[in-house]
Amino acid sequence: MPIFEYICRGCNHQFETIVRSVREKICCPKCASKKLDKQFSVFSAPATTGDATPDGPVCTGTPQTCGCH
Ligand SMILES: [Zn+2]
Repeated sequence: MPIFEYICRGCNHQFETIVRSVREKICCPKCASKKLDKQFSVFSAPATTGDATPDGPVCTGTPQTCGCH
């Protein structure tokens, strides 16, 4: 069962809850507000794979003057 982390928009209360069903209505245990921001605490941030700068350094020289051509 996935555990979701929520932050209440009403009182900023942060809590975790087990969601048994997608139709289950989650509300803040503190103020009973249903305006919640779902956090994905179970999943880490998207992995940064590969080169951070895929285009590489931009060569501004001409083929004649630049050593990288
Ligand atoms: Zn609340």
